[in-house]
Amino acid sequence: MSHWKHWMLAGLLATTAACGKKKEDAPAPGTAVPPGPATPGAMTPDKPADKPADKPADKPVVTFDRVERATFNLTAARLNLPVFWVADANGNKTVDPAEVVTLLFYDAAPVYSEDGVLTQAFTDAYEAIVKAAPAPPAGKDEAETTRVKLMWEELDQGRPTLVHNRLKLSEGEKKFVEHMQKVAGLIDKLYERQKGLTGLYAKIPETDPASRRVFARNRSVACECPKTEKNPACRAIPGVDKVPVDVYPAELQKDDAFCAVIEKHKDAKLREPFTVVRADGDKLRAVPYTEAYAEEMTAIAAELKAAAAELDPKEEAALVAYLQAAAAGFADNKWEPVDEKWAAMNGRNSKWYVRVAPDETYWEPCNLKAGFHLTFSRINPVFAVWQDKLNPVRQDMENELARLAGAPYKARTVNFAMPDFIDIILNAGDDRDGTGGTIGQSLPNWGPVANEGRGRTIVMANLYTDPDSLAIRRAQAQSLFSAESLTTLSDKSLPGMLGTILHEATHNLGPSHEYKVNGKKDDEAFGGALATILEELKAQTGALFFLDFLVKKNLLTAEEARAAYVDAIVWSMGHISRGMYTDTKSPKPYSQLAAIHVGFLMDEGAIEWKADAKAANGTDAGAFVLHLEKFPAAVEKLMTVSAQIKAKGDRAGGEALVKKYVDEGKIPFALIAERWLRHPKASFVYALDLE
Ligand SMILES: [Zn+2]
Repeated sequence: MSHWKHWMLAGLLATTAACGKKKEDAPAPGTAVPPGPATPGAMTPDKPADKPADKPADKPVVTFDRVERATFNLTAARLNLPVFWVADANGNKTVDPAEVVTLLFYDAAPVYSEDGVLTQAFTDAYEAIVKAAPAPPAGKDEAETTRVKLMWEELDQGRPTLVHNRLKLSEGEKKFVEHMQKVAGLIDKLYERQKGLTGLYAKIPETDPASRRVFARNRSVACECPKTEKNPACRAIPGVDKVPVDVYPAELQKDDAFCAVIEKHKDAKLREPFTVVRADGDKLRAVPYTEAYAEEMTAIAAELKAAAAELDPKEEAALVAYLQAAAAGFADNKWEPVDEKWAAMNGRNSKWYVRVAPDETYWEPCNLKAGFHLTFSRINPVFAVWQDKLNPVRQDMENELARLAGAPYKARTVNFAMPDFIDIILNAGDDRDGTGGTIGQSLPNWGPVANEGRGRTIVMANLYTDPDSLAIRRAQAQSLFSAESLTTLSDKSLPGMLGTILHEATHNLGPSHEYKVNGKKDDEAFGGALATILEELKAQTGALFFLDFLVKKNLLTAEEARAAYVDAIVWSMGHISRGMYTDTKSPKPYSQLAAIHVGFLMDEGAIEWKADAKAANGTDAGAFVLHLEKFPAAVEKLMTVSAQIKAKGDRAGGEALVKKYVDEGKIPFALIAERWLRHPKASFVYALDLE
């Protein structure tokens, strides 16, 4: 799916922070019940024979035990209904009032449960779900029947997975949150406009809810899940194959190679991240976001000011200052002063983590223009302990990486902040993916805050930690690895979190985006796509390499390190399962680095494919065997290779790695995909209760 499992990346990081977003490949589907048709209707009979005749018995007794939970949630998605059955908390297989929520980011927000009672809106939704056909409805012709079937198949590959916050707040904070919800809605509109999608949702008939959901979920007419993404018939709007993004002229985008025109154009302004490119006769010109999107940005600025006004100016001084600065940025398109206020916030001077800005460029074909997003979340205090452990060894980490990178790279003085862990409340705009989700990010990507190492890195701590997600991930691992390889596989969040922390930290170490060799930065030395792959490769290799480093510093136990190695390789398999290139032949950076990891470690004998081994699930024949004792040396070698390529600007070396492991590798890509993709990915949905 378009995004990936643990991280997605984002890449470009500057000295300080680099890149990106890690997207988690989602753990898989939830319950044991395969998404299938709703159980046909076990309605209670109208007139139970032994009921006293004087009771009004014509009204059927409504029960909510006719559909299993996984099926209920999946069917709701097919019907574009914003209802979610959170858990069968009391195990009675019946929906209870405390077990349902209304999802955000849908067309409407009906109340399904009020004062401990399920409402009529819920009953209506429930009956619709019960009555939903076991197969997609036939369309007016064969092509339409096929298309609707594909819409279901696309949706079914994303298991609705809830991001749910119940917040106890003061009255002022509640109002603040309400304003931020409005900001989220406005950011969604603006991002959809950047993507060229404005007005398209309304063209999908209400009678075609599955197509509406695919479009709203993916923010695209196209499909993005592995079994459907390459199928040209999988379109939410029949006949609309590709929608030109709004940040370049539509005419220009008719040529698939149009990015080269922008990349080579003599007017460097066309490549600036906070501008759109417009055609002026034959000429191209850059137009600032604040001019191109004046209406949307003005509305956002006003809402941000209103949000700031609700906060306690003393307790949340840093956040208030940021929101006011952000409001100014949405008015004048000057983001550097905004980043200063943003970098001044941290997990100790605010309870909240907010970032509202144009930031990442992965969403558009040329990877140049910043997409608008809102990350609205709470600081998670539990993980502050890891910040305290790692801060004192940052410089040692840099020195170690510089030693491996070798000349001409020299160790820098590093002072980046270790990641803040956050619990996501709302993701809007470029932050909300159809499937999967970003689990780590370093920002900003440009300007002095980035270049001087003063950015912030965050890790999304509350994604993929629900029991259903963990169970699926375990099943995926058990289909690919031998049982003895998985003895340290953990359901705890620490191994994955460690990988994320170290990945993000490593973006700040060694030769980063701003590092120049022979006068060239990484994207000039390698070209944009390869630069991103190599930066992500460096970061993820650091996620493995620094484990042994931390063990030697007594900051981690050997057992914890082994669990993190296993977690990281399982993560790589998830990325490999998604394929190496998009349908437009762009490299998928995480998938490619994952293939380089697995291929390189196979060459070193640290990972072995054994055709005669049984997978840990006891059914699959042929499995990977991990030789964890060989990991530290093999990983150091890989760290050396990847750091040296970056240090020397060795484009041929980078291309050779990709060729060897991505394009010609001996990794059984198809087999990995087949086993991993038996399970749907998470498709995050959101609910918020304010108390
Ligand atoms: Zn990254």
